[in-house]
Amino acid sequence: MKYRYVIHPLLNGRCVIAGNHAFHEGDPAESWPYSCYVWLILGGERPVLVDTGLDNVEEMNHGAAHVLRQPITQEPGQSTREHLSRFGIKGEDIGAVIITHLHFDHVDCLDQFPAARIYVSGKGLELATANGWKGSWAPGKALEILTRTAKDRTVAADDVEVVPGIRTMWVGGHTPCSQAVLVDTAVGRACVTGDTVSLAANLERGIPVGVFHNVEECRLAMDRIRSEADIVLPSHEPAIPGIFPRGIGA
Ligand SMILES: [Zn+2]
Repeated sequence: MKYRYVIHPLLNGRCVIAGNHAFHEGDPAESWPYSCYVWLILGGERPVLVDTGLDNVEEMNHGAAHVLRQPITQEPGQSTREHLSRFGIKGEDIGAVIITHLHFDHVDCLDQFPAARIYVSGKGLELATANGWKGSWAPGKALEILTRTAKDRTVAADDVEVVPGIRTMWVGGHTPCSQAVLVDTAVGRACVTGDTVSLAANLERGIPVGVFHNVEECRLAMDRIRSEADIVLPSHEPAIPGIFPRGIGA
């Protein structure tokens, strides 16, 4: 690989999901622990973030109660701001924010990065803002930022190079705005999947996630991610920090 980025998965919270939400036609008697992450990518001119994390845990737990078997808990030190400060990074230092999809736990902190270019799926944002935002799966606060307050630094497009060695790949599936992020590292090409592949077990079992907009797109995404990436980083997989204690590519 020409570019040698290092990806740091920053643990932003934990919860438990029932089997039928973790897997298409899954067993509701199963319980699956989920971890929530913000992904910090270092090694370029400026730090890049994939997703922004959760700030208002209470609002998330209220809004997503129907899929949470155990609510999200965020321990002291797990907020996005606290994680970044341990790297000596302030919100205004972030050069780019890539949004894997417009769900609350991934975009709640979008207002904390006033200098970042924001990358969101173009066709996804178009659908999320159709019909005066009515029935949209995206939080109004995020749509307000993307279409108004930060419109001039928002890149609403699909399959784009963010910086050399980091690019987005529209996958759909979980939501119409779902995109994966491919990152070149010293140990190969890594894929931050977004929720279209939520757990390593989705790939191992070959079964899509149970929360989806289009299950066929989920299957196609799994195939494509397998073929494009050497290292797959499922968005809610609890094992990741244990497998890569110093970060992916370090
Ligand atoms: Zn999601």
